[in-house]
Amino acid sequence: MNKASCLCGAVAWEFTGEPKAAYHCHCTACRKHHAAAFGTYYLVDEANFRWVEQGTSIRKYRSSESLERAFCSDCGSVVPEAGEKGSTDVYVPAGPHGDGPEVQAHIFTGSKAPWYDITDGLEQHEQFPDGMEQAVYDTPEPRTEDNGHLRGSCLCGAVAYEVLESFSATYHCHCSRCRKARAAAFTSNGFTSGKGIRFLRGYDNVRRYAVPEAELFAHAFCKTCGSGMPRFDEEKDFGVVPFGSLDDDPGAGPAQHIFVGDKASWYDITDDLPQFEQGPQ
Ligand SMILES: [Zn+2]
Ligand SMILES: [Zn+2]
Ligand SMILES: [Zn+2]
Repeated sequence: MNKASCLCGAVAWEFTGEPKAAYHCHCTACRKHHAAAFGTYYLVDEANFRWVEQGTSIRKYRSSESLERAFCSDCGSVVPEAGEKGSTDVYVPAGPHGDGPEVQAHIFTGSKAPWYDITDGLEQHEQFPDGMEQAVYDTPEPRTEDNGHLRGSCLCGAVAYEVLESFSATYHCHCSRCRKARAAAFTSNGFTSGKGIRFLRGYDNVRRYAVPEAELFAHAFCKTCGSGMPRFDEEKDFGVVPFGSLDDDPGAGPAQHIFVGDKASWYDITDDLPQFEQGPQ
């Protein structure tokens, strides 16, 4: 049995058996929706899938003609979504599953993030592997005037921001909270001071969920589309920018892997970046 939940626990699900497919998707829509390097999905037949807690918090955003993307509107986690009419597929985000079936391939590598290198030996497909129903599509990247600041936006475009400073630290974080919040294999974040992020539009459309028992952990997301968004705290003087939401190329990816003790079983770290069992050193 494979069981998982969103960050706040309002939505929980389980599935049995082997998924029909399991892939890391590098399409722009997945990168934005998860605010991560890529989204990872188990394609599960509805006969093998069950909601444990469906609650009332699930919202959907239509990112293409054939695909809606579901998220928990309380905490912002991406949650499973059934395929369109006639399909019996359920798209289950793998991120919250610490233990889960192995992943077979990378898809949509033609639109992968410029700051993320694929270094493992899994199959790679520019778009879809043969025989897989085409259900996700790339979205055009919203581009803005270049003033030297890195800019980013959510999938629906309601929220946009710029980063006013260079990052003081950058990490790929594998902790279970990050994996649940973004429903992704890991998060890739850049850190600034508390004044390092300026929202250009839609700040009132950003919702923040703070994990009640955590000292600092929170997740910010667009209320309309569920994309992870930056957050900042002027008092504690830090800001966090999800690389996955950037429209501009930061030039390099994060410099370290942290909390690898908490890493998902189905993701292998195959690059040579330094790894830390817990927090940054
Ligand atoms: Zn939730
Ligand atoms: Zn995708
Ligand atoms: Zn949005």
